Amino acid sequence: EVILSVKNLTADVDGTPILKGLNLEVKSGEVHAIMGPNGSGKSTFSKVLAGHPDYEVTGGELIFRGEDLSELEPEDRARSGIFLAFQYPLEIPGVSNLDFLRVAYNSKRKHLGEEELDAFDFDELVQQKLDVVKMDASFLSRSVNEGFSGGEKKRNEILQMALLEPKLAILDETDSGLDIDALKIVSNGVNQLSNPDNALVLITHYQRLLNYIEPDYVHIMANGRILRTGTKELALEVEERGYDWVLEAAGEVV
Ligand code: ADP
Ligand code: MG
Ligand code: MG
Repeated sequence: EVILSVKNLTADVDGTPILKGLNLEVKSGEVHAIMGPNGSGKSTFSKVLAGHPDYEVTGGELIFRGEDLSELEPEDRARSGIFLAFQYPLEIPGVSNLDFLRVAYNSKRKHLGEEELDAFDFDELVQQKLDVVKMDASFLSRSVNEGFSGGEKKRNEILQMALLEPKLAILDETDSGLDIDALKIVSNGVNQLSNPDNALVLITHYQRLLNYIEPDYVHIMANGRILRTGTKELALEVEERGYDWVLEAAGEVV
């Protein structure tokens, strides 16, 4: 099944074109990594997928499981099975992580026409998912993200993903300065949650993340487009040679 199909996508931020004809196809069971120099539009792409209001799609196609994404409100995108880690990074004092997760989870069930889980059943479910991230249960009674360390925020992200079981998860790790522990948390979580029915797009600066997560495809993005697609070896190659040769080979000005 094709989960995400992006064709010739163009998008503006404040009237400035940032995405300039992006093409990408993601099928179920696949893990894709998107790498590329700073400012190439990677985060813009994830914001466009999320439906962030500052980002305007000006052309091309953005299809998620046969549905035109640009027709969907941001909340509906999440409920229909797209997970973007940064949708939930905010700190919410006074709201426990457990309550927050239950609301997000039930909102998705409602969207699918399923009955909501009561607090008791949800608690049971969340206990199972805690194992995936090796998280202590005390974590659930704390306020959402308040005072969480970088690693704890990462764990929480993966916990959210484990609960929501998205069809497509997009993790933009570019600016988060992952330390080695956080890298391992993210990669363990991703490796456990990846299955034949879902797909993952990992946006990263770090070749070393790909030592832990085996991507099926590695894409190099620059100037608002994907200029080259390869396998894991491509990530090693850009680590060694940098990005300029990719741009040159694609006829882009370096
Ligand atoms: P990457 O994630 O690949 O580093 P970004 O998508 O963050 O790249 O940025 C791509 C370009 O878009 C940059 O030139 C950046 O300055 C610009 N840009 C991104 N977001 C905004 C914004 N909200 N307002 C103005 N310019 C933006
Ligand atoms: Mg950046
Ligand atoms: Mg970025």
